[in-house]
Amino acid sequence: MFEKILIANRGEIALRIQRACREMGIKTVAVHSEADADAKYVKLADESVCIGPAPSTLSYLHVPSIISAAEVTDAEAIHPGYGFLSENADFAERVEQSGYVFIGPRPETIRLMGDKVSAKDAMKASGVPCVPGSEGALSDDSDEIFRAAKDVGYPVIIKAAGGGGGRGMRVVHTEAALLNAVSMTKNEAQTAFGNPVVYMEKFLENPRHIEIQVLADEHGNAAFLGERDCSMQRRHQKIIEEAPAPGLDPKLRDKIGERCAEACRKIGYRGAGTFEFLYENGEFFFIEMNTRIQVEHPVTEMITGIDIVQEQIRIAAGLKLSFKQKDVQLKGHSIECRINAEDPYTFVPSPGRITVYHVPGGPGIRVDSHVYQNYVVPQYYDSMVGKLIAYGATREQAIARMKTALSEMVIEGIKTNIPLHQDLMRDAAFVQGGTSIHYLEHKLAAAKVKPQ
Ligand code: ADP
Repeated sequence: MFEKILIANRGEIALRIQRACREMGIKTVAVHSEADADAKYVKLADESVCIGPAPSTLSYLHVPSIISAAEVTDAEAIHPGYGFLSENADFAERVEQSGYVFIGPRPETIRLMGDKVSAKDAMKASGVPCVPGSEGALSDDSDEIFRAAKDVGYPVIIKAAGGGGGRGMRVVHTEAALLNAVSMTKNEAQTAFGNPVVYMEKFLENPRHIEIQVLADEHGNAAFLGERDCSMQRRHQKIIEEAPAPGLDPKLRDKIGERCAEACRKIGYRGAGTFEFLYENGEFFFIEMNTRIQVEHPVTEMITGIDIVQEQIRIAAGLKLSFKQKDVQLKGHSIECRINAEDPYTFVPSPGRITVYHVPGGPGIRVDSHVYQNYVVPQYYDSMVGKLIAYGATREQAIARMKTALSEMVIEGIKTNIPLHQDLMRDAAFVQGGTSIHYLEHKLAAAKVKPQ
């Protein structure tokens, strides 16, 4: 096992990884920007290195500074967390070439899955069902584009092969709008991701977002840890996640989960990963794979009892998975609310000093957050300040505990989306379970949700 790991990230996930390391007796190195110098996890780490000024391009995305930090601290492995460099194949390669272990998949796997066109091809070849769409990338030939859309059937969605974070997508309802939408998405993709390649998919009108968590080691073992339902989204960004997915047939779960585990074995996947699907009328359609730990991993940990971050570390150290598929028992229900520093209804970010902070507790409540009273939420990064996770024997109990926890949680000095979560925990459709990815947008647009 490693003696020392460098955590190339910030915020709640840096603290989460640090906690996993401490439990395993591994020393940690925190790297941080000037804006994060006072962060709690920086003080709690065995060592810390300032890697640059606040803007992430000069710090958390600056590869030479991170590698130098590993050099000066003698760290053996680097955990990239999520976001930042976590799905950057060139970074993973640099880490390995510099003699450190990258806690994640092989660079070539990251590259394969980072391009959504090649990822879909690989999944099709492994027997994972995909959203119907163009055969690979869209060509520049207008006749071919029209033909592809006709074959797929309107509405279609044009997506960037290199896209991420819910950006680089455009829905097209009519033939008249098609060519313009393709060229606009291409231009945007080139600007945002440096890759103009786009592809076409059938736009599913009322799907749910259901994803499968996998873990695979270097000894040919792969297992799936059930699913998560992440349908509560705004602008393709998840805000509430839960496990298991309400009403999903366990036989169907096992079938799709086994396909994912099999795909991992086929492509020689290593580490933690997530297969993201749209789910409609009892069918799963693969959309993309995330080759890293995800924000919503705790809900899976709560219902399986498996520490996914510790498994990532064990796998990176060359050990076998600590469990077998038959040991994975899903027990109870878990819900996560992402707590963001933003106006709950306009969604305008709200950085600044937290003047009052009270965390909830009690049975089945977990809070993954790096903030504290007097902490200043920097303006430079993602607005998520923490995650509130509730576990219950049943979904009803998880919701009841979440409601209590939300009412106990006090964050003053900045605005947060806690009121929106409170509304959603009372929302009849959410309480019933199984809402689609469009539910929240429709609810907000209809202005059914009013500030309290
Ligand atoms: P990203 O990498 O940017 O997150 P994804 O391919 O995972 O992109 O898609 C993000 C979200 O966009 C999905 O969760 C879903 O809400 C929506 N979406 C993507 N593809 C489709 C589709 N074919 N039909 C309907 N919605 C889609």
